[in-house]
Amino acid sequence: VKEKILSLKSNERFISFEFFPPKTDAGFRNLLARLSRMLALNPLFITVTWGAGGSTSEKSLDLAATCQKELGLTTVLHLTCTNTNKEIIDDALSKAKSNGIRNILALRGDPPRTEEYWTPNCDFNNAVDLVRYIKQQYGDYFCIGVAGYPEGHVDGSDNSQQSIEKDIPYLIEKIEAGADFIITQLFFDVDKFLNYEKVLRSYPQLSNIILIPGLMPITTYKVFTRSTKLSHASVPDDIATKLHDASVDDDKVKSLGIDIIDDIITNINNHTDNRIRGYHFYCLNLEKAVASIINKSNVLLPIMDLHESVDNNDDAIASD
Ligand code: FAD
Repeated sequence: VKEKILSLKSNERFISFEFFPPKTDAGFRNLLARLSRMLALNPLFITVTWGAGGSTSEKSLDLAATCQKELGLTTVLHLTCTNTNKEIIDDALSKAKSNGIRNILALRGDPPRTEEYWTPNCDFNNAVDLVRYIKQQYGDYFCIGVAGYPEGHVDGSDNSQQSIEKDIPYLIEKIEAGADFIITQLFFDVDKFLNYEKVLRSYPQLSNIILIPGLMPITTYKVFTRSTKLSHASVPDDIATKLHDASVDDDKVKSLGIDIIDDIITNINNHTDNRIRGYHFYCLNLEKAVASIINKSNVLLPIMDLHESVDNNDDAIASD
C-alpha cells in the first residue's frame, strides 16, 4: 500500500474500500459479484475487517485471500490483538503470507460487549504490541497500517476520554514501531479532521506519515445515526438538520449524503496542500452510494462511469 501511494503522481488521488466478510455462502457469492463490478472504480486497495477476538477469522481470511489472489486486488487484512490468543494471530499472519497478502491493518480491537472493560492479556494489550510482533516475526514483509481518531479514541461510553492529545503519543509509538500508514475512524465534521491533520503534522514523527481519511457514505438515516453513535463521530449542526429533515425520504437522504461526502472530500483537498492522497470508504459492502460519490466528485475525477453497472440490489447484501 505504501509503495503504491508513494508512486502516485502529485495530482492523482486514490480511493480504497472496506469490506466485511458476509455470514452466509450466498452472501459471499453476492459480494464477490459486487466486488468484481467495483473493480471498475479502480480502488488502490481494499481492506477486509476482522471480527473482534478473531470471531470471523476463517471468513475474513477467505475473503481477503480471494480478493488478493483471484481478483488481483491489493488487499489489507485487518487484525485485532486483544481477547484472542497468539495462535490465532500466528495462523492469520502465516495464512495471509501464504496467500500473497502483503498488508495488515494492526488494531487492538474493541472490548467485548459483555464486560465493562477487558482484561488485557500478557502478549498484546494495545495495537502497538501487534505492530511490534509483526515486525519481529516478519521483518519488512508486511506493510502495516494503524487506526487514527480525528476526534480522539473512545473506550466504552466515556466521552471524556475523547482527546487527540491523549492518543498522539500512542500513535507515534505505533509509527515508531514500524507502522507505515494511518486510516482514520469515520467522521463528518471536516473541521475536526483538518485540525487533527494539522496537529499530527506538527510532530516530526508524523509530519510525513500517510494519513487516509475514513469516510462513510450515507445510505439511510437509520444507518447514519447508528454509525455516528457507535463511532462517537460528531455531526455538525447543518448536516444533522438537513438529514433529520429528510429522514423519512430515503432517496433524499441518499442524495444529500452524496453531497455531504463530496463536500468533505473537496474541503480536505482544498486545505491540505497535496498531503492527503486518497480516501478510504467504509462502504458496508455496498456499491451504489460510493459509486455515486466518486462519479460526482471533482477531486476523485470519475474513474469510470459506473451507472450501467450499479444495480438496485444494495439492501440484499447489506442485510447479509
Ligand atoms: P490502540 O492504538 O491500542 O489504542 C486504543 C486506546 O488505548 C486509545 O485510547 C489509545 O490512546 C490508548 N493506548 C494506545 N496505546 C497505549 C499504551 N501503550 N498505553 C496506554 N494506552 C494506550 N475493530 C475490530 O474489531 N475489527 C476491525 O476490523 C476493525 N477495523 C477498524 C478499522 C479502522 C480504520 C478503525 C479506525 C477502527 C477499527 N476497529 C476494528 C476498531 C478498533 O479495534 C477500536 O477502535 C479499538 O477500540 C482501538 O483500536 P486501536 O487499534 O486504535 O487501539
